Amino acid sequence: MADFDVAIVGGGHNGLVAAGYLAKAGAKVVVLERRPIVGGAVITEEPWPGYRINTFSYVAGLLRPQVVEELELSRFGYRPMLYDPQAFCPFPDGRSLSLWNDPEKTRKEIEKFSKRDARAYPKYEEFWDGVLDLLEPLLLAPPVPLADLMAAFPGSAAEELLRNLFLRSAQDFLDQWFESDEVKVAFATNAVIGEMVGPRTPGTAYVLAHHSIGTLDGLRKVWGFSRGGMGRITEAMAKAAEHFGATLRTSAPVRTINVRDGRTTGVTLDNGDFIEARAVASNADAQHTYLELLPREAVPPEVVREVERIKSRGAALKFNARLDGLPKFTAAPKTPGPHHAGAIEICPSMEYLERAYDDGKYGHFSQRPFMDCELQSVADPSMAPPKKHVMTCFVQYAPYSLKDGSWDDFKPEAAERILDTYAEFAPNIRKVVKDWQIVSPLDIERTLGLTGGNIFQGSITPDQIFSFRPILGWAGYRTPIQGLYLCGSAAHPGGGVTGAPGHNAAQVILEDLPQLPR
Ligand SMILES: Cc1cc2nc3c(=O)[nH]c(=O)nc-3n(C[C@H](O)[C@H](O)[C@H](O)COP(=O)(O)OP(=O)(O)OC[C@H]3O[C@@H](n4cnc5c(N)ncnc54)[C@H](O)[C@@H]3O)c2cc1C
Repeated sequence: MADFDVAIVGGGHNGLVAAGYLAKAGAKVVVLERRPIVGGAVITEEPWPGYRINTFSYVAGLLRPQVVEELELSRFGYRPMLYDPQAFCPFPDGRSLSLWNDPEKTRKEIEKFSKRDARAYPKYEEFWDGVLDLLEPLLLAPPVPLADLMAAFPGSAAEELLRNLFLRSAQDFLDQWFESDEVKVAFATNAVIGEMVGPRTPGTAYVLAHHSIGTLDGLRKVWGFSRGGMGRITEAMAKAAEHFGATLRTSAPVRTINVRDGRTTGVTLDNGDFIEARAVASNADAQHTYLELLPREAVPPEVVREVERIKSRGAALKFNARLDGLPKFTAAPKTPGPHHAGAIEICPSMEYLERAYDDGKYGHFSQRPFMDCELQSVADPSMAPPKKHVMTCFVQYAPYSLKDGSWDDFKPEAAERILDTYAEFAPNIRKVVKDWQIVSPLDIERTLGLTGGNIFQGSITPDQIFSFRPILGWAGYRTPIQGLYLCGSAAHPGGGVTGAPGHNAAQVILEDLPQLPR
C-alpha cells in the first residue's frame, strides 16, 4: 500500500484547496511545503511588530464562492470585507474620479468628466455582466478550447466577442466605450496588473476580464480585503484541509517527483525521504515541475520545448510600508476620507501607463511607475497598532532582469522613485512613511519559486489561457506522466486567489484515482 493516495507538492492556496477537496472525498492526502509556512503568495507577516503586512497578494475578491462554501472557509476564519470605493484615481489637475460599488454613484462621478461617458457606463457594465455570465461557469471546470467556446455563439456574436475580449488591447477596447482619458485609465489599470504588457498591447482586454471575475457580498466585479490580512485566507484553507483529514508538512521541500515506467510513484524530499503516493499534484509552476522536479528523461522532448516557451516575465514589485499617519491627497484633502479605505490608483493617464510600460519593456524600472495602493488598516484596524497604518503598493513596471544592475542593489533607488511619484499626488507621503520594504520580482522568484517573478505562474494573456494553459495538449490538469497533475495557477483558469485550479485538479484526480494502482 502506498503511504498516501495523493502527495501535493506545495502548500500555496491552490495546493490547500486541492487537499481540502481530496480529503473531504475520502482520499489520504499529504501537502509538502518547502517553506516554514503554508500559503504561498497568500500570507500576512509582521516585519515590524504589530504591523500586519500582506507581503505578496493583497486584495481578495476572486476566490470562488463555491470553494468558500464547500470547504466551509467562513467557519475557519475567512472574513472578506468589500471595500468602497473600488478605485480612487487622483489627477494632477486636482480632480479625482472614484469608482463606487453603487453604479449610480459611479455614473455621477463619470459625469464630471464626460456626459457621454456617463451615458455609456451602464451599457459598459451590462457588457461585462454578459461576459461574466459566459466566463463564470467555465472557471470551476477543466478548460474548454477557445474555438469550442466561440462555437457556442452564433456567427457574428462569436466573432465580435473574439475580437473584443481576446484580440483587442485595453486601449482599443476602452476607446469604443469612452471619450474621457480619465475614465478610461480608471478602468485600464486592471488590464495590465501583474503583466509585462501596456494598455496598447493586443490581448489586454482579456486581462481586464480576468480581473473582473470577483464576487463579494453578492456583488460582481468587485474587490475587498481579507479581515486580518490575506494570510487568514490560507490559514482557513489549511484548517479546512486538516479538518477533512489532510496532513500538512512544512519545511518539506520536494527534490524530485519519482517516475517509473511512465507513471509517478511518489516524491523524494531534499532530505532524501521517499514518500510513496498513488498520485502527485504539483502546486509549483509548470517550469519548476516539468524542468526541475521531474527526471528529464521522463518528459517528452516536445513538452520540454513548450514549457521552456511559457511566458513568465515578472512585471511588478511590492512596496510595503508602516505609516504613522495617512497620505493627504491634493485632489481630496479630507483625511481620513472615504478614499483611504479602498484602492488608490496612481496612474493619471493612458499615456502615463504606456510610458511606464515602455521603460519596463526595455529592462528599466519605470521612471514614473503605476501604483495600486491600499491602506487596509483604515477599514480594518486589526492590521496595525492604534492610530498607525499599513500601506501596500503594487508597483509596475519592475522587470525581473534589470538592464543596469541587480534588484538586490537597486531597492533604495526604486523606493525613492516610488515616494517621489506618490508625493506628486500626496505631498506628505515621506513624512508619514516610517519604514518600508521592497519585494522585487527576484524576491518573488526566490521566496515562492515563481519563475521569472511572474505573479500568475505564467502570463494570463490570451495565448496562455484556457486550453493553452500551461501548454497546448496538456491543459486539463493531467500531464504526460500518469498519476501526475498540476493543481496550481499554472493551470486553468490561471493566477489570482481563486481556488479554482486546486478545485478543478482535485475533481480530475478523484475521477482517475480508482484506476491508479494501490
Ligand atoms: C506580489 C504578488 C501580488 C499578488 N496580488 C494579488 C492580489 O492582490 N489578489 C489576487 O487575487 N492575486 C494576487 N496575486 C496572485 C495570486 O496570489 C497567485 O496567483 C496565487 O496565490 C497563486 O497560488 P498557487 O497556490 O497557485 O501558487 P503559489 O502561491 O505560487 O504556491 C506555490 C507553493 O508551492 C511551493 N513550492 C514550490 N516548489 C516546491 C517544492 N519543490 N517543494 C515544496 N513546495 C514547493 C511554494 O513555496 C509555494 O508555497 C499576487 C501574487 C504576487 C506574487
